[in-house]
Amino acid sequence: MAKPALQLLIAAPRGFCAGVDRAIRIVELALEQRGAPVFVRHEIVHNRFVVDGLRAKGAVFVEELDAVPDGAPVVFSAHGVPKTVPAAARDRGLAYLDATCPLVSKVHRQAERLVAAGRHIVFIGHAGHPEVIGTFGQVPAGTMTLVETAADVAALAPADPANLAFLTQTTLSVDDTAAVVAALRARFPAILGPRGEDICYATANRQAAVKAIAAACDAMLVIGAPNSSNSVRLVEVAEREGTRAALVQRADELDWSFLEGVRTLGLTAGASAPECLVRELVDRLAERFDIVEQEVEIGRETIAFKLPRGLREAA
Ligand code: SF4
Repeated sequence: MAKPALQLLIAAPRGFCAGVDRAIRIVELALEQRGAPVFVRHEIVHNRFVVDGLRAKGAVFVEELDAVPDGAPVVFSAHGVPKTVPAAARDRGLAYLDATCPLVSKVHRQAERLVAAGRHIVFIGHAGHPEVIGTFGQVPAGTMTLVETAADVAALAPADPANLAFLTQTTLSVDDTAAVVAALRARFPAILGPRGEDICYATANRQAAVKAIAAACDAMLVIGAPNSSNSVRLVEVAEREGTRAALVQRADELDWSFLEGVRTLGLTAGASAPECLVRELVDRLAERFDIVEQEVEIGRETIAFKLPRGLREAA
């Protein structure tokens, strides 16, 4: 029997960003150059497939530094860590490698500078996300306040409303963040903000790529983990555009009933999801559908970040 037709619109850019690429490479090079086991504090990036792959090569994932034995190499995840973590590693004489994305580190340095200049920071982000915990850990307690929504902005009661600044998590929804920033500027006209945006290029590009195809799709699948902020945002962006959307981690998790009545399916992947998972899903879809694939590219990404000192690609 002939398979039903399925038009597949694949968003580009999608998948790995430069920060995720660098973080994974740091763990791989540490394994090659220092030997297993290499300890990694927290999931290096929010993707089970990536974490399992590194574990198979000899990485050991731990929640806290206490679980790292003396003398063992340890890597800090791409999301960034509070200052207390490298300080504790130094106290113990641990050789650590910091895989914090340089774009997250940039926000860390901005936070330090603003607090040194006497500003109180309003931080737009998601409570409990490791990046938020890491950024709060760059400045003394009480110098930064978290807001998630415009309603949170309305409830703010700063001691010195004329002396505020704001910063944001790198992986937020561009549209939601614009609304929160507008609420902040309306309530506190003197508030200082970042020159550009703290939302990173990869997050913004993946959201724009979803917007570019959403209207033409009956449904959209986003490959990513439920704890991956930028992946969850991609589902929200598609839904806002009026398209049914779902997050899947691997092809074998796909609920086929989601595809009932779908003639055009959008496909993308969060910044921590490798391209092989996209191909795996396309192959699985091809078992049941007669697929016509089309990549819709809104731009090319050429950004690459340097590795930390002391860890270099082999010549
Ligand atoms: Fe860096 Fe953005 Fe990738 Fe996060 S999503 S690791 S901030 S480039």
